Amino acid sequence: MNFTYANSAQIFFGQGQIASVATAIDADAKVLVIYGGGSIKKNGVYDQVKEALSGHKWIEFSGVEPNPTVETLDKAVALAKSENVDFILAVGGGSVIDGSKYVAAAALYAGEGWDILERKYQVEKAIPIGAILTLPATGSETNMGAVVTKSATQTKLSFLSPAVLPRFAVLDPDVMKTLPERQLVNGLVDAWVHICEQYLTSPQGAMVQDGYAEALLKNLLVLAADFDNRDNDSWRANLMWTANQALNGLIGSGVSQDWSTHMIGHELTAMFGVDHARSLAIIQPSLMRNQIKYKKAKLEQMAVNVFGLSEGEDLSEACIQAIEAFYNGLDVQTSFADYEGTKDEAVDAVIAKLQGNGMLVIGENQSIDIATSRAIVAQAFA
Ligand code: NAP
Ligand code: FE
Repeated sequence: MNFTYANSAQIFFGQGQIASVATAIDADAKVLVIYGGGSIKKNGVYDQVKEALSGHKWIEFSGVEPNPTVETLDKAVALAKSENVDFILAVGGGSVIDGSKYVAAAALYAGEGWDILERKYQVEKAIPIGAILTLPATGSETNMGAVVTKSATQTKLSFLSPAVLPRFAVLDPDVMKTLPERQLVNGLVDAWVHICEQYLTSPQGAMVQDGYAEALLKNLLVLAADFDNRDNDSWRANLMWTANQALNGLIGSGVSQDWSTHMIGHELTAMFGVDHARSLAIIQPSLMRNQIKYKKAKLEQMAVNVFGLSEGEDLSEACIQAIEAFYNGLDVQTSFADYEGTKDEAVDAVIAKLQGNGMLVIGENQSIDIATSRAIVAQAFA
């Protein structure tokens, strides 16, 4: 398919690169530094940011929670407006970076910020952003997307706009040293599913996109297999770069994409607090089996090119089982049992939420209607 591709985010990759923000942000810009619950204060990242910004005027906003809420972020919007900031520096994982994108856009919008998530307002302008990534997983540091939750209604929605693409991202693998094992695993899984959402679609013979997607998936397999030896520079650098490349717009250009695993997974996070990556591992295998008619060809290609399975067997099912084994090998569950009430009630509640959020037909071929979503969720719930 025809496509137009640009990703103008400058990347500063490697040890010691946080210092680069000193010159990456205009000297006369007033900066709002946004961060999360305080991990950056414990691991020295905050001190490095302080040092790098010593020539700038800057203020800070902390307390952005995992799966950032509009309730918290609107306080940062008010601050950005009242202090007239010129630049936002997000320091954290996907939640802080996504949250900062929302703040950057909402601060230049006269209406209610939540309109952006409900797509009542398409973001056209935003305060410029830079990102210092502390958790490789989402790719948010060099993409145009953001996911925000309204906790009052347990609604998790996304928006996309070129205006919130970070001007630059710092990827210093050393910051990963303090990541808990759980978050490293989440990073491997989220990056994996991002690649799948752009690769496990109708075959279009896109050799560059497919080949690059397969290379990235193989990286993640190698890193997962080597998980016990993860405490080294090479492992960290390879995960950080792979997760970034997984969702920077390149492998999804000119090919079908299918974000239905993410769409359904978001409901599990909003309703049951399941970590984002883990919600995807619960939904994806059921979704693949349900949509096998559309997924078969690419699953077979993935079986051969990524997992090295030989031709002849039921390759698409073998591929789904290999994906499940990848998750289970990282101690990530591929079905969900942690709900209150009966399974039927829990499935109904998720489906009602999907319906309420307007996800009436999803999937690359609009082939997942509400009844199909129900079948997928029921299959994924133990
Ligand atoms: P996260 O929610 O940003 O962070 C998870 C936890 O890790 C936080 O408690 C955080 O603590 C901690 N942490 C981060 N860096 C750390 C470090 N270096 N050392 C120790 N702890 C650290 O996790 P995430 O997986 O990156 O982001 C998930 C969010 O991104 C979800 O809302 C998801 O929907 C969204 N998402 C966005 C995209 C996109 O393209 N924009 C794609 C997929 C998912 P602190 O709070 O203290 O920092
Ligand atoms: Fe994701």
